[in-house]
Amino acid sequence: MDIESNGTPFADEMSQDECEDELLEFKLTFSYAEWQALLVTQEYKRTEKESQNSRTYYILKQNEWCNVFYKHFFSITKLPCPIAFRRCKIYPCGSKFFEFEGKCPECDSKIEGYTYDEPQPEFSIVVHCIYKGNFANCQHTKQRIIRGKTRELYAQKLL
Ligand SMILES: [Zn+2]
Repeated sequence: MDIESNGTPFADEMSQDECEDELLEFKLTFSYAEWQALLVTQEYKRTEKESQNSRTYYILKQNEWCNVFYKHFFSITKLPCPIAFRRCKIYPCGSKFFEFEGKCPECDSKIEGYTYDEPQPEFSIVVHCIYKGNFANCQHTKQRIIRGKTRELYAQKLL
């Protein structure tokens, strides 16, 4: 049993493909009023497949939350990515109070964000975000299309 390793030197492996994923962590801060304006009061239920337990959750106003989140995203990151926000859920009793997901259709980078605690009146809401992908080379130049009602609710000053 004399198996010789197919001795290709690792020069081949050095030619990596060009998908260099980058990671960007930042926080989006919303004023309490801004957050309240996005809330939908209707309750939704999702049944977990395994346990048959249903879990109550809430959502934010469709289109509107995407617009508001996008504005904040752009102010903070200055990235050209026209993020398509996919879903957001609010769990009144969960380990995470709020979470959302989105993706840039141009460079395929993915964004995720969450906050642990339920917002308290008069306090701002800080959503921790992680953006991952090849966004540094995003070719997008146009502005994201804003649908629905747009709001100018800029409570906080951004750097
Ligand atoms: Zn992008």
